[in-house]
Amino acid sequence: MVAARREPSGFRIAIVAHRQAWIMAITHPLLVRSNAVLPRRLRYSSRTLRRRVPSACPQALIDAIGDGFWDWNLQTDALSGSSRWLDMLGFRAGEVEPTGRFWAARFHPDDRDRVRMALRRHLDGLTATYQCEHRVQIKSGAWLWVLSRGRVVEWDSAGRALRMIGVCADVSARKQAEAEAQESRLQLNAILDNAPVGVLLVDAERRILRANDAIARIFQCSLEGMVGASARLIYGNDAVFEDIGRRAYPLLESGGTFDEETMMRRADGTDIRCRLIGRSVGAGDPALGYIWVIEDVTVRRRAEQALNDRASFQRVLLDTVPVPIFVQDVMGHYVDANRAFEHWMGMDRQALFGKTIFDLAPPDLAATDEAADRALLADQQPQSYETQMRCADGALRDVLFSKAVYCRVGGKPAGIVGALTDISERKRAEQALLERQQLFEQIFVTSCAIKLLIDPIDGRIVDANPAAAEFYGHPLDHLRTLRISAINILSEAEIAAEIEKARSERRQHFLFRHRLASGAVRDVEVYSSPVQVHGRTLLLSLVHDITDRLQAEEGLRRKTRELERSNAELEAFAYVASHDLRQPLRVINSYLTLLDRTMGEGLDAEARECIDFARDGAQRMDRLIVDLLEYSRVGRKAAPFRPVPLAEVVDLALLNLEVAIADAGARVMVANDLPTVSGDDNELMRLFQNLIGNAVKYRAPDRPPVVRVTAAAVSGGWRIDIRDNGIGIPAEDRDRVFGIFQRLHRRDEYEGTGVGLAVCKKIVEHHGGHIGVADTPNDDLVGGSLFTLTLPIPATRHDAVNAV
Ligand code: ADP
Repeated sequence: MVAARREPSGFRIAIVAHRQAWIMAITHPLLVRSNAVLPRRLRYSSRTLRRRVPSACPQALIDAIGDGFWDWNLQTDALSGSSRWLDMLGFRAGEVEPTGRFWAARFHPDDRDRVRMALRRHLDGLTATYQCEHRVQIKSGAWLWVLSRGRVVEWDSAGRALRMIGVCADVSARKQAEAEAQESRLQLNAILDNAPVGVLLVDAERRILRANDAIARIFQCSLEGMVGASARLIYGNDAVFEDIGRRAYPLLESGGTFDEETMMRRADGTDIRCRLIGRSVGAGDPALGYIWVIEDVTVRRRAEQALNDRASFQRVLLDTVPVPIFVQDVMGHYVDANRAFEHWMGMDRQALFGKTIFDLAPPDLAATDEAADRALLADQQPQSYETQMRCADGALRDVLFSKAVYCRVGGKPAGIVGALTDISERKRAEQALLERQQLFEQIFVTSCAIKLLIDPIDGRIVDANPAAAEFYGHPLDHLRTLRISAINILSEAEIAAEIEKARSERRQHFLFRHRLASGAVRDVEVYSSPVQVHGRTLLLSLVHDITDRLQAEEGLRRKTRELERSNAELEAFAYVASHDLRQPLRVINSYLTLLDRTMGEGLDAEARECIDFARDGAQRMDRLIVDLLEYSRVGRKAAPFRPVPLAEVVDLALLNLEVAIADAGARVMVANDLPTVSGDDNELMRLFQNLIGNAVKYRAPDRPPVVRVTAAAVSGGWRIDIRDNGIGIPAEDRDRVFGIFQRLHRRDEYEGTGVGLAVCKKIVEHHGGHIGVADTPNDDLVGGSLFTLTLPIPATRHDAVNAV
């Protein structure tokens, strides 16, 4: 409310009601006071003021409002003032003699010129009133800001000023307030100008009242162009502008804070994402406007998006990598893991979260792992070590951990990233290799067989076992420095040729002569085989000392030669003896016949009996000699073996035995699948003739003789059976009957010389076979004996088969 009136005293009083205080402005030619808050006791309504002021004198009013009144005689320089004026300066009435000079001496040096200038302009008539704010020094020495106002009220006829009156008001408080307000303004400006965020002050119509430099930077426009314009210019489109206005302002007016991100637009047309924070300057008073803090979050959002993209990329990458990977915090808690780790552990990452190694591994291994993690966090050097972990199937498996520390910005450890490699298979392979190596060591080192490992390229003895050292008489270390030429009596060129031959012919067996450290030379048999050692081929040689064996073989060969020679001599002797012995027998026989013929009837019965005995003995001796001759002939002067169909030789034997078979009424059955064997057909015919002849001869008196010849293939040859139903051979005599002159019966029982089976044995053995008498089988024939003989498949079996 404003009320003003002109008083008769010349004052014009204006009172403006503003909120709870009354502001009074008094306009007088000599006194101006405005914008001061009246003391409480002077807070009158305009009505009261209109009623009271006319009766109050100006001095009282001036005193009431606290200003000093002064009256200056320019001619005498006398200066009189109200008590308030002197109070203001700190003096009591009468304490000083106030003059214009006294007053001027108290001006602040910096203000002096300005005061003089203002006074001079008024005295010269350039200004209607003198008015100046300046500092004066009060009695205590302090400085006081005063507002001095005055006016010349008397002039002489020449127009010189004679008297001035005025008021002096203490404006220190206002000056202080103004200084503080100025300081606040400067601070506010500094804050706004340096704020990293944009600040806008808009009015209720959303017109921009003020903007700071950051706003200009964010929206790439000049502040001049913005102030006074609608805030619409920083929005991308009307819809957004309207939407914000609709939603934000009711909230702001109710004292709330609006805080949102939205798209806005720069002067150059590019869209940016901004965070808007709005508040009303005075809640509920739109006239004071609205403050908007605007932050360009485009880059941050982009960075956040990039960070999110990176995080999801890392997630996909982690889950795609087939290597189990896990993340632990600095306390050892699992905080993340990839799919491979989940799969390996049989546990999803949620279940894993918060667990420690003590939940996943046996306590002793977990303690070791924890210690390793502590060391890793301390020195932050990536580390790898082998340990064991329990996997999905509950089995404890060998694993290789590769771990590294990851740090926060600033280098503080944030946790551990680890990768796990399952090395169980490798460990098993290593173990197997170790075992194989140990086995090889044992086979190579501890075995008593002599072994050398030789490099075929230069003949160097790469390794040797203790048995070799003992055999050669060289210390093991020395043996390992030698070449094979140092122990083989062959020259290096010959050894190289042998090695090359061994390589090209894939030969593994050698006969060498090795020299021992003692100088002795031993015959050795060497079995060499290539072995792969660290990617190169070496020869593993087993050396057998065969010196003694060769000597023994040589002795045997010598004895065999001697035996063969003496045997040949014996056979020659037997043949010659048999052959030559028959001649005297024939003479004896001839003379006995002549004696019988010439003496004839003259011989008595006794003499005739003697002649018969003598003839019989001579004939028996002749048969013996014939049989011996036959025995000695077997294998001697024999024709080279050839394929012989046994059926043919059996037929021939039966032809020769035809009379005996007929006389005995024997039945001889021959299998029709008799094989062809390699041999001497004449000897083989004799063999079957003797065996079938015996079967017929040693027949049982109570049954007609039956003979059966069969054949069967056996391992390595043929088995031929000659089965009869005769008198049989007791088991205890079955070996003896094959000896020469061995008979089981007297001559008067069964005629014979005891040479037949010996001949059979010699023929079978000559053919590489074996003959014997077996137990008779329980078959259709009664009693009898079973002669079995084996004949090997001939060396030229192919020929024999072709010949069939
Ligand atoms: P020998 O028939 O001339 O007496 P062998 O050497 O042929 O001479 O036979 C030796 C003995 O073996 C015969 O005296 C006979 O006692 C016995 N022997 C041989 N073959 C048979 C046979 N098939 N059955 C029974 N005994 C036999």
